[in-house]
Amino acid sequence: MNTPHIGRNFLNCLLAIITANTLCLATLQAAEISSDTNSLPRLVDLGADKCIPCKMMAPILRELNTELAGRVRVEFIDVWKNPAAAKTHGIKLIPTQIFYGTGGKELYRHEGFLGKKDILAKWRELGVDLTVTDQSGFVREIPAEPAPRPQAQICFMCGGKVNAPDRVLVKGQKEQRILCSPHCYFIFYSSLTKPDEPLELGEVLVTDASGREIPARSALYWRGQDKSGRTTIRAFASKEAATQTQQAEPGNLVSWDELKAAELATRCGFCDRAVYPQDAISVKAGEQSLRGCCPMCALGVAARLQKDIAVEAKDALTGEILKVKTAGGTVASLEPKTMVAWAGEKKGPDGHRVSAGCFHQAWFANAANLVKWAGLHPLATGRQITIEAALAEKMSLTREQIGQACKLDKCP
Ligand SMILES: [Zn+2]
Ligand SMILES: [Zn+2]
Repeated sequence: MNTPHIGRNFLNCLLAIITANTLCLATLQAAEISSDTNSLPRLVDLGADKCIPCKMMAPILRELNTELAGRVRVEFIDVWKNPAAAKTHGIKLIPTQIFYGTGGKELYRHEGFLGKKDILAKWRELGVDLTVTDQSGFVREIPAEPAPRPQAQICFMCGGKVNAPDRVLVKGQKEQRILCSPHCYFIFYSSLTKPDEPLELGEVLVTDASGREIPARSALYWRGQDKSGRTTIRAFASKEAATQTQQAEPGNLVSWDELKAAELATRCGFCDRAVYPQDAISVKAGEQSLRGCCPMCALGVAARLQKDIAVEAKDALTGEILKVKTAGGTVASLEPKTMVAWAGEKKGPDGHRVSAGCFHQAWFANAANLVKWAGLHPLATGRQITIEAALAEKMSLTREQIGQACKLDKCP
């Protein structure tokens, strides 16, 4: 009943499995399944990242993973990368969804695409309580206003406006990227899986005060602070102009390599991106002090280190201090107890999800603050979730997924 028309690609997947399963299933790595798999009911989807109906399942699984956190564990196994799992689970075609009860007993299995409504209906039929705590929360699927400026003026990394004198242009072999500042360039750089490969990086051009483009390596940089204490970088083609600026405003004159070392000195403890200490969220893991580049990444430190953490962040609307402590991968305490999270999502012009909303994740002391903040940020898309759900999502990541967290093109 739940097998709509899924086209040729699906048949290809199927045929490939039937006729050449060694080829189709050959390149698998073992999926890491967490140790407490039996304490919760579990939905396991066995598919592959390149099969069309499996791709259609991916956003559904992601939503269920967040919405059912603490009630049902949602897992995806790529059987092309992990053929052993296909064998263990007796898979005949992909995608296949297996519903396990607490204790690990298989309750039901379905072959082919299965929609969200049907998955939820099946769990209810199987007697599993699906009360969703986030159901009444604020959700915005599409921006409340049209984007105010063309794509060419939007920073590829932070989504902010690009002003000519700060602009950095990366002419990669595949794509050209526009960044709003050298700082965003180094966040971009620390998000690359292979940062020094010419295919990804290509030629990097910075812009001086006159708007002239200069190869990044040949420019000289003034790195100082603006009036508000924020680190600021300016590029110069000549030493004279740079020295003049330095005499007028205290700061350091540095080469591209020195700038790179300074910019990459502080990293996110979860995703490893460059972050300025003043922008970072404080994370304590025992005696260890780390930083999160956003509050969600701060929670991710618990998953990456497999340790209990204490996070201190600010309400994105009021600046009030918010405190979270974890124990054994779950939330131990929240201050205040009414705290909620905004799980931002970056949507493309066509309304499709592009990535998790890096730079757009926020925490609030209560849901009313979140709604007020959303009113002030009409372009923000995402949903209100509990801190428990945000942590559960991070704790459900495999070590491989954590290793690729927030990397370009790896964002789930
Ligand atoms: Zn930017
Ligand atoms: Zn991060």
